[in-house]
Parts: sequence; C-alpha cells; structure tokens
Amino acid sequence: MENTIPDFLKEKLINQYGQSEFEKILEGYFINKPVTLRVNTIKSNIQEVKEGLKKENIKYDEVSWYKDALILPETTEEILRKLSIYEEGNIYLQSLSSMIPPIILEPKEKENILDMAAAPGGKTTQMAALSNNKAYITACEMNKIRAEKLKYNLQKQGVGTVNVMLEDARRLSNFFSFDKILLDAPCSGSGTDNVKQTNFTKELIEKSIKAQEQLLDKALKILKPGKTMVYSTCSILKEENEEILNKVLKKHKASIQPIENLLDIPQLPVTIKGTLCVKPTALYEGFFVAKIKKTS
Ligand code: SAM
Repeated sequence: MENTIPDFLKEKLINQYGQSEFEKILEGYFINKPVTLRVNTIKSNIQEVKEGLKKENIKYDEVSWYKDALILPETTEEILRKLSIYEEGNIYLQSLSSMIPPIILEPKEKENILDMAAAPGGKTTQMAALSNNKAYITACEMNKIRAEKLKYNLQKQGVGTVNVMLEDARRLSNFFSFDKILLDAPCSGSGTDNVKQTNFTKELIEKSIKAQEQLLDKALKILKPGKTMVYSTCSILKEENEEILNKVLKKHKASIQPIENLLDIPQLPVTIKGTLCVKPTALYEGFFVAKIKKTS
C-alpha cells in the first residue's frame, strides 16, 4: 500500500516546516516503531525488569535520557503481554515521547496534582511512580469507558493515591487549586499513526483546537500562583500547540519555562523558544511539550 497522508495535512506540514523537513516527517510516520516500555518503579526496578527480559531472551536497549525506559527492538507487544512482568504490572508499554511530559512536570511527594485528561493513565501512573507513589493525584477523564480503563491500569500498577473524576475538565470548579497540572490534551494525533486513519480530518483538528483552548484556560485558572503546569499533545501542528499557548497565555499571568535538558531527542523547530516539539522518527512519535509557570 502506498504511504499517503491527506493532502490538507501535507500542505500544512510543508507550510510549517518546509519541503525537506516534511519528507523526513513523512518517513517517520511510516517506519514501524519498536515496542518501548517504562519500568513501574512502584512495583519493580530497572535491574529486575532487565533480568526478566534476559530470561526470556528478549533484547533491549537503554534510553539515554530516562533510566526507567527500555527499547525492545526485536519483540512485539503481543509477546510482552504474556510475560509475568507485564501481567504483574511491573512494566507499562508506553511510547518514548509520551514519557516526556511527566518528567518535565517533576511530580513530588505530597504535591496536589491534577491530570486533566488522564485515560488510559500512562502519564498518571508515571507521575505516581516519579513521586514514589506519594503525590495526591486527581485524574480527570470525561469518557466513561476510558475512565474504567484508567481505574484498571491504576490498580494493576499498584498506584495508591489517585482520585479518579469522571468529568469534563472544562467544567471543574474554579475553587479547585493545584500545585501542579498536567494537561495532556485531546488532539488530532498529527504526530502519530493517526494521520493514516479515515477519522483524521480538518474537522478533528478544529474540534481539538477548541477543546485545547478551553482546557488550558481552565488549567491556568485552577493552578496555584507561582506553580507550574505542562501542556502536551501528540500533534506537531502549531495550531494545536504554540498558537494555543499564544492565545491563552495572553489572558493569564503566565510564562513559558524553557525545557533544556532533553537534547538527545530529535526535534522540530518551534515558534516559542523553550517549548519542545519531538520529530516523528523511527523511534519517536511526534509530540509537543511546554512547561508553563503561572506568575500570579
Ligand atoms: N494522558 C493520557 C495518557 O497518558 O494515558 C492520554 C490522554 S488522551 C491524549 C486525551 C484524553 O482526554 C482522552 O482519554 C479523552 O477521552 C479525554 N478528554 C477529552 N476531552 C476531555 C475533557 N474535556 N475533560 C476530560 N477529559 C477529556
């Protein structure tokens, strides 16, 4: 089958990144990516997981910027799902790009953290692990079936202190106040395989933009002054990323905090300095991450 994406997306990407970068992005979309996993440090540790993989003769590579992540170049998700380390919740299958937002947010013990769009819980469980299972996390999800999947994953991963809220996060009361917020926003998925699906349409992008704007506005209302949040999407279109930040940050006293320490990750140019746009490659899916501080 020919490797194609919709014409309107091709046009947007060429406009945004130029022809030669576009061709690399296209290659990234169509190369099969290896399975990647995150060690669930609530239940296990990297050494134990490596030993479990060795016992099964499964080859792994390390990830320079994250000691708890592994790349498994020669196996499949299906094989991994049958292993005891998977069944017991010692690992979580997660793309490398999607591990970045929680690392940037740096959740700590006893902090009150909101995960605004949480299911199926890859980043909720990662934030729990990063805070030694001691942050107070509220995980909000508006889709009932996805919220059930989130609860299942929380339990399987041994996460203790998460309160799941089945709610449209845009409607959260302004009386809430959080120390940190992760807004891993609903998006078109233009950094991922989703570009090959029939539901990848201009309308999906428009719908995502509307939700992203409203969700970010709410996040900045309920974040405590002086505290930080992370905005992320698996889109590489600036209308879902930098343009959302430009529109919403204008209405609040908030500023971008530069992301500086992830130099090994392939990146696309960004229009707001200090934000990070991961380039789709053989290893990474396209992703956007911004750290924002509410100044007052
Ligand atoms: N953070 C998740 C993870 O790492 O596993 C992935 C989140 S996915 C990108 C976006 C999620 O947001 C979907 O599960 C979707 O149902 C949910 N969602 C979309 N709009 C929402 C809203 N207004 N309030 C709460 N959840 C929402």
